[in-house]
Amino acid sequence: MTLRGTNQESGRPFNRRIVLESIRLNGPTTRGEIAERVGLTVQTVSTIVRELEDQGYILSVREKPKGRGIPPSALTINPEGGHAVGIHLTPLGIDAALVNLRGDVVESRHRNAPNAMPDEAFALIGEMVTELKASYKHGRLLGAGIALPGPFDVESMSFVGPTTMAGWKNTDIRQRLADATGLPVFMENDMAAAALGEQLYGLGQQLANYYYLFFSVGLGGVMMHDGSVLRGAWGNAGEIGHIPIVLDGEACPCGNRGCLERYLSLDAFNRRGLSETEWVAEVAPIFRNAVRAIENLFDPETVVLGGLAPPALIEQLATLGDGLTNSIAARANRSHPRLMVASDCQHSALRGAAALAVFGALSPRFGQMFETSERGAAA
Ligand SMILES: [Zn+2]
Repeated sequence: MTLRGTNQESGRPFNRRIVLESIRLNGPTTRGEIAERVGLTVQTVSTIVRELEDQGYILSVREKPKGRGIPPSALTINPEGGHAVGIHLTPLGIDAALVNLRGDVVESRHRNAPNAMPDEAFALIGEMVTELKASYKHGRLLGAGIALPGPFDVESMSFVGPTTMAGWKNTDIRQRLADATGLPVFMENDMAAAALGEQLYGLGQQLANYYYLFFSVGLGGVMMHDGSVLRGAWGNAGEIGHIPIVLDGEACPCGNRGCLERYLSLDAFNRRGLSETEWVAEVAPIFRNAVRAIENLFDPETVVLGGLAPPALIEQLATLGDGLTNSIAARANRSHPRLMVASDCQHSALRGAAALAVFGALSPRFGQMFETSERGAAA
């Protein structure tokens, strides 16, 4: 993952986040090591470290002496230095979790709520957040992040059809979430939130350029480019579910025919009524076409398959990585297989959504990383 600070004065909040991330990923670590890693002066890092320490986000630990003299103090993240609430809203139900600064889910709740409308959903969210607050001695709560199916702000596609929160079109989601939780709130599409969770706490520690294929009620995905979500002009890049893949195929609620999501998604699986094995065999050619299209478009290190689907189904889909025919990804010097399963399918969107709230608390101004998430924070 590429973590570089900026020497511009306006970049200070951004640097705070970068320094905290560097400590989380590499701790215990020293000021000098951080400075070298993120490209800032030791002086700048020391100032930020003092602030983060005063605010309880990090801890200073004295390493065991290896020889003579006092060893330098090393810095680690303070997992209990703050918590954030991550919420994942889908057409099937709602998950909410209390996540600590290290990204651990320390408490979680789930409610079945098929096709919930806003009043019902926010009542449940309010209830769940109250339970989470009561369940755990969590110290300060930094905020709440919500992940839900996109795309956003496309009149004919957003909140339309069974793979979206249908009927939510004119809902002020941020305001409703703020009212329900009493916390600073952040919002992100679920595929980008899940990819962010994977980037921060999972495979992102060994990969920087990969496509995250998000197999959930619908099908989406994002390209992770140098450790950041590739957004496109309007923040919806990667919505692979609406790529037409079958000529004159099934009608899609988006108005087109033969969209990938009509064949390859939890919604499609449930409509088809086959066993997992039968269904995976049936969709194999379509799935492999999709993977090859992604590879030829983005040249990723690998395609990571994740999403909120039964783990057995994800595992079976992942076996289709064997037998992928030619694309620009079929190179001899690959370091990873062409298709990999995400490290944590169940919690990734929750952890990513919670991370938005942590970033927001550390760096309230707009930064270069995860820019759209911060645009969310502005509302
Ligand atoms: Zn469509």
